[in-house]
Amino acid sequence: MDRYDVIIIGSGAGGGTLARRLAPTGKRILLLERGDWLPREPQNWLAEEVFVENRYISADTWYDGDEKPFQPQIHYFVGGATKLFGAALYRLRERDFEELRHHDGISPAWPIGYDEMEQYYTRAEQLYHVHGARGEDPTEPRMSADYPFPAVSHEPRIQQLADDFAGAGLHPFHAPCGVMLDEANMPYSACVRCNDCDGFPCLVHAKSDAEVLGVRPALEHPNVTLLRNTQAVRLETNAAGTEVTGVVTLREDHQETFAADIVVVSCGAANSAKLLLSSANDQHPNGLANGSDQVGRNYVFHNSVAVLALSRDENPTVFQKTLGINDFYFGSDEFEYPMGNIQMIGKSQAPMFRGEKPVMTALAPTWSLEQVARHAVDFWLSTEDLPLPDNRVTVGHDGRIRINYTPTNEEPKKQLFKQLKSMLKHLGMHDDLSPRHAYLKNDIPVAGCAHQAGTCRFGADPATSVLDVDCRAHEVDNLYVVDTSFFPSIGAVNPALTAMANALRVGDHIEQRLGAQPATGAAP
Ligand SMILES: Cc1cc2nc3c(=O)[nH]c(=O)nc-3n(C[C@H](O)[C@H](O)[C@H](O)COP(=O)(O)OP(=O)(O)OC[C@H]3O[C@@H](n4cnc5c(N)ncnc54)[C@H](O)[C@@H]3O)c2cc1C
Ligand code: SF4
Repeated sequence: MDRYDVIIIGSGAGGGTLARRLAPTGKRILLLERGDWLPREPQNWLAEEVFVENRYISADTWYDGDEKPFQPQIHYFVGGATKLFGAALYRLRERDFEELRHHDGISPAWPIGYDEMEQYYTRAEQLYHVHGARGEDPTEPRMSADYPFPAVSHEPRIQQLADDFAGAGLHPFHAPCGVMLDEANMPYSACVRCNDCDGFPCLVHAKSDAEVLGVRPALEHPNVTLLRNTQAVRLETNAAGTEVTGVVTLREDHQETFAADIVVVSCGAANSAKLLLSSANDQHPNGLANGSDQVGRNYVFHNSVAVLALSRDENPTVFQKTLGINDFYFGSDEFEYPMGNIQMIGKSQAPMFRGEKPVMTALAPTWSLEQVARHAVDFWLSTEDLPLPDNRVTVGHDGRIRINYTPTNEEPKKQLFKQLKSMLKHLGMHDDLSPRHAYLKNDIPVAGCAHQAGTCRFGADPATSVLDVDCRAHEVDNLYVVDTSFFPSIGAVNPALTAMANALRVGDHIEQRLGAQPATGAAP
């Protein structure tokens, strides 16, 4: 059996970042990824291929709480979900780390505070080339350093929107964004500022994803090995159940077992829970590290809604994801509970509506889909969903994932939409349209698991959490989890930067534990 110092399972935001962090230590690191490289091909940037043919979505079938099958919006590639992500790289707010009262209940405190995460957010922003402008977002947490890159500029229609919002007394801000764009020197810019970013892979590798900025730089170190198309299917332990002794993998039909001093699971919140639950043994009858019965529970993925507002004027914006609004994040004078974040999403294109039957039916009689896309201004509203024990990932007898999920905070979500509508009403968004068609809402169902988190939360108490504050399993000494599974709550901003920052934090801890010389210079 091949033996390593560290095995990392999954190469997305958590695993890819950790590999990058540990690579300069010189320790033998094996990165196992069930997917392959995402092919660089013209289809990367074809909306028809990406949104209608679902070219990059896994063929998995999962089941909801009523045993209804669905195809999850999940991507198995080197770099994980970040290959397709919108690269909005937000920090959680300070208060997101504290207990927060919501309309539907309590969002629990994290076992560490924002101050402990701050330096890692700064390092993650540097590693992932985050652009932004400090001081604009009224909920912005304390930051010890400026953004490493200047804010991505608004295009004229979005600048107008920002000015109008500001004129109405709000505080629109330049959204933090991870793209390798150099607006001052476009001939040398890796990012060409195209309209196929959010939800698409980046053909020119200019998006700050975990393949380009995590895995590839890690592989420059000879001590790091990547095995693609290699799925971890079970973790074996010693007789006492206190240590992982083998990672059983499947590569096509070939089974192979690897061993390491430290094993890190980072398969994404649902798949990490699946791996632990599928690794039950005599010492861990309910699943590995699951004496607390918490593995798989507290699944969250944001209570989100995509809103397409039709503007009287055409919206020729190319790269739209530059604006955010957090004025209602923690509530307002009229509604005392947190509502969440408003941001732009990638500019809609006609083929995208084709997978959206309700949208199509609503619009088809009036406008062509091309017309809709030309006039659309597209928003994404995220409200925090609360971690509930019964919102959980389980594994059926067929080995497939079940997600039992009941939404929470529906009222704050409605209130946030109401706020957006009332803001836009004054901005000439639908003067010549019937109000029924002025705003198209698309609530994100359980298959829209892009922001999945929870399932192996960290905490001080082994009775109520799976991982300790270092993201090490309470019950298994050499087992860590560094994807978004560790989140005790998700806040209302996008989760990837927090997973990246935490992977750097856990990386510091693992480096010390391995007795490696602290990496200098090259280490993020
Ligand atoms: C379309 C889209 C847009 C998004 N936009 C944003 C955004 O703008 N901002 C933001 O912050 N977040 C965004 N997200 C979410 C963000 O990408 C995720 O939060 C983040 O990637 C989660 O990191 P992770 O490490 O938990 O999991 P992932 O990044 O999903 O990585 C998990 C990895 O594990 C691999 N894997 C799974 N099971 C196994 C196994 N058994 N063996 C081996 N390998 C395995 C997977 O193939 C994958 O590579 C978006 C996601 C999507 C899909
Ligand atoms: S906008 Fe830039 S980073 Fe995004 S897909 Fe286009 S070239 Fe790549």
